[in-house]
Amino acid sequence: MNREETLVNNFKSVSAALSAACQKSGRDPNEITLLAVTKYANDEDVLTLLQKGLIKHIGESRVQQALARWTRPEFAAFDTVKHFIGHLQKNKAAKAAQFFDFIDSLDSWDTALAVSKNVPAGKTIRVLVQVKLTDKDTQSGLPLPKARELAARLKNLSAIKVCGYMAIAPQGAPKSQLQQLFGRLKQAFDEDFAACPERYLSMGMSEDFETAVEEGSSLPRIGSKLFAENLEGL
Ligand SMILES: *Cc1c(COP(=O)(O)O)cnc(C)c1O
Repeated sequence: MNREETLVNNFKSVSAALSAACQKSGRDPNEITLLAVTKYANDEDVLTLLQKGLIKHIGESRVQQALARWTRPEFAAFDTVKHFIGHLQKNKAAKAAQFFDFIDSLDSWDTALAVSKNVPAGKTIRVLVQVKLTDKDTQSGLPLPKARELAARLKNLSAIKVCGYMAIAPQGAPKSQLQQLFGRLKQAFDEDFAACPERYLSMGMSEDFETAVEEGSSLPRIGSKLFAENLEGL
């Protein structure tokens, strides 16, 4: 298989797994938006998937690196929706506000203000509040009650449209624990965002997206499963 065939194959297996997860949980696959995480992928691979029209929502975790790639004409030519998914430092907030369509990893009011002040006139930036699912790990995000408070408060910022929650599950957690953690966040999301016409619950990565989708994720973030050299080996 050449590289192009491998990439198309990877995409097909991810799509098939997404459909299977939808079928298993009685969900409509049209509710799911695949967020292709391109942060580790090389330029050629990303361009291949763009040219084939297979990806539209892309995720990057470093502001500088994202700008360097996506402002180049060969990338800028594609109509993409750009999500920032990394930890946003306050000093990068202005650049992020100008460049990204979504910030999926917001976890502080101060950063939100810095983003809000720098959103160009006429633009509304979509944000998700990052929730920390367990208190054991050191990952960013807020414990659920604090995340819900921040989400409510963000509704007052006019340049920002708060659309839901994002979470990273603990690595290697058993399925039963994932179901419990994802399920609890889904419940909070339904309570807090039922009235929003545009809403996203971003749970699941390459290792756990099937469970995440079964539990209600609408924006799984997938990197390595799309860009792997050899899926069998993963
Ligand atoms: C890197 C990253 C991903 C993608 O992870 P894979 O395991 O490669 O699919 C998803 N979400 C966030 C927040 C990331 O930083």
